[in-house]
Amino acid sequence: MHFPTLIYINTFTNPHWASMVDYGLITPDLGQALSPSVTYSELMMIKLFYPWRTKLMHCKEVSTPFQPTLSPLSKTKAMKEKKKKAEDTSGTVSELNPWPEFIQKRINLWDKYKTQYQEQLAAKPELSIVVTLPDGKTVEAKAWRTTPYDVAKGISQGLADSTIIARVNNELWDLDRPLEGDCKLELLRWDNTDAQAVFWHSSAHMLGEAMERVYGGCLCYGPPIEEGFYYDMYYPEKGISSTDFHVLEGLVKKIAKEKQPFERLELTKEQLLEMFDYNPFKVRILNEKVNTPTTTVYRCGPLIDLCRGPHVRHTGKVKALKVTKNSATYWEGKADAESLQRIYGVSFPEPKQLKEWEMIQEEAAKRDHRKIGRV
Ligand SMILES: [Zn+2]
Repeated sequence: MHFPTLIYINTFTNPHWASMVDYGLITPDLGQALSPSVTYSELMMIKLFYPWRTKLMHCKEVSTPFQPTLSPLSKTKAMKEKKKKAEDTSGTVSELNPWPEFIQKRINLWDKYKTQYQEQLAAKPELSIVVTLPDGKTVEAKAWRTTPYDVAKGISQGLADSTIIARVNNELWDLDRPLEGDCKLELLRWDNTDAQAVFWHSSAHMLGEAMERVYGGCLCYGPPIEEGFYYDMYYPEKGISSTDFHVLEGLVKKIAKEKQPFERLELTKEQLLEMFDYNPFKVRILNEKVNTPTTTVYRCGPLIDLCRGPHVRHTGKVKALKVTKNSATYWEGKADAESLQRIYGVSFPEPKQLKEWEMIQEEAAKRDHRKIGRV
């Protein structure tokens, strides 16, 4: 299972590496950081979460090529878990039928404001603008018409497909949001940490959509975290059980298959207070956190959420999502506030990346087990 080789890491500048040191993978002896034998999973972890680091690594020839297949023990375990999952469908949750009433009310308001926005957009004069790419090349575009996705597609379809998010004049910008004037444009892919955060944040919306459709509670905050994301929901009626996870994952898969576009609207506080009047937590956010006359709201499928964005183009970009755990928490972490249910997840643009991530978790759990055994 080990690479009989050394991995040299030239520099040590990223604060994230601190967690790798804690992890026991590399020594904190910076600049000389090395581990005499690194497992395949550990190497995958570096590649997965610190892709820019892989450019700084020089791996010697591997004398025993590692076959990343499941061990017979893992296979049996995986089969057992699959069987257990298949048997475990009784007594768990399912999608609400009908959906909570507030969903349709929200959509009706959205449709009204979206039509108004499209009319405003169509009335904008068609001005030529210049888009400057990171290599200095320039592209002619039209203000309020051309999107970063159009520019990417003009370069290559492959680039357009692999871009997760754009950065316009140093501001993260939806790929389908029209450019507004002369600008600098960057196209960010999975190897960029900002793009990963956008990807995970977008995945939180998909999980949130599934949570609304299954539990019907009030969604609170759904941010990205260092490895994945979570969504909090006020749902005092019943607890959430880990046996619900496969129901949520199944629904998220359906949501991904539908390639629901992430659409953006900028609305006034009054319009938003009406749209979210069923949810006291979103009302609190609007009254206490929003200090501007307008703010943004995003839609994917039936979920419309108060959010600054940006997001991936559509839910189909998330090809693998796993619900990892749940816990109880408090509104904004205050112990005297309402108790909320938190559901965590992790997601990737490719299913094989999730498989690698799962393997890393398995490996880490084994190591923790060994550590406990030694104490
Ligand atoms: Zn969002």
